[in-house]
Amino acid sequence: MIIAISDKFSRICAGPEMASRPLNNSSTQAHEGFSCPICGKDVTYHPYTTGGALDYFTHTDGSPDCFQSESVSDEHRIATEFTVKSLHNRIQEITEEPVNINIEKWIGVRENFIITDVRVSSPIQIAAEIFYRVQPLSLVRRLSTMFDNDYRGYLVFHLDGCHNVDRIEQHLQKLAPLRIGRFNPETLELTLGDAFSKEQVGLDKHSRELLPASIA
Ligand SMILES: [Zn+2]
Repeated sequence: MIIAISDKFSRICAGPEMASRPLNNSSTQAHEGFSCPICGKDVTYHPYTTGGALDYFTHTDGSPDCFQSESVSDEHRIATEFTVKSLHNRIQEITEEPVNINIEKWIGVRENFIITDVRVSSPIQIAAEIFYRVQPLSLVRRLSTMFDNDYRGYLVFHLDGCHNVDRIEQHLQKLAPLRIGRFNPETLELTLGDAFSKEQVGLDKHSRELLPASIA
């Protein structure tokens, strides 16, 4: 994995950022305690991993990486890891409580469910969807399911995916004046945008008609 939670600061750090810190810090970093943000197991930091690698951190017991999934591309996975980091740190900062965060989890009952890429179940309920190459986006269905189950949601677009992100944001303005999130794979910068909530996005029968089929 690229990210890990610092046991000392309860913050998620990313390997590439740590690697770019001055060298005199790196020996202490290696001995700083880190754990997996998903399962909580101890992880080992590999400071000499080079850019683009997915194994800055590995479970110390050698068990498989919690972010590894055959159904997900590396690009999608990297954006997911950085979303976990941003979401975790933001909620931790605001609430000062432990953040229960997970990936690829169901929301909703079987008849009407979605699997969200990232899900925070406490101290607040919030989900994030990462969009890389998926078509159609089915945003109305995804957001409705989140709202029906008392979740708010972030929509994060990978900038090297197949979507015109600015256009999608323009279309969504017809529903609510909210910004979508963006992940830049070159700089590894991620913005979450605004959280879409039931109160702000009044989804009804007409919502779908306001959006192009590829988005709705
Ligand atoms: Zn893990």
